Amino acid sequence: MLITRKIEFSAAHVCRNPQLNDEQNRLLYGAAANPHGHGHNYVVEVSLRGEPDPATGMVLDLKDLKAILNREIVEPYDHRFLNYEAPPFDRIPPTAENIAREIWRRIEPHLRMPRSRLDSVRVYETPDLYVDYFGEPGSGDETCSA
Ligand SMILES: [Zn+2]
Repeated sequence: MLITRKIEFSAAHVCRNPQLNDEQNRLLYGAAANPHGHGHNYVVEVSLRGEPDPATGMVLDLKDLKAILNREIVEPYDHRFLNYEAPPFDRIPPTAENIAREIWRRIEPHLRMPRSRLDSVRVYETPDLYVDYFGEPGSGDETCSA
């Protein structure tokens, strides 16, 4: 069974690779490389895969999930300029792809529950564009076999 919780945060970013110069960034990212940045209302959907506990009927306690997502995503990112205020985006471009991967990295250790595990992180940068991330194959993220 998949259970999904949606959260939102608003943040500014500039799509810029610090390894490249201004001209190279403009060629690569177009207007999104404007150094003054621009904002998005990001929507994040975090899905967990698991089996409901026979006693509670729940895969996990949704209050716990909400607290983790607020602490690990909303608090560090909401109303921030990601490139300047939310590492590692001072070093890597805060694209939707990299944001999805970083959110996975931040929350996955907290979601190794007895009856569930993190399945995917979906990041909407706009209503028309989203990225799904399922962790790295073979990294051990998929199962908690230990
Ligand atoms: Zn953007």
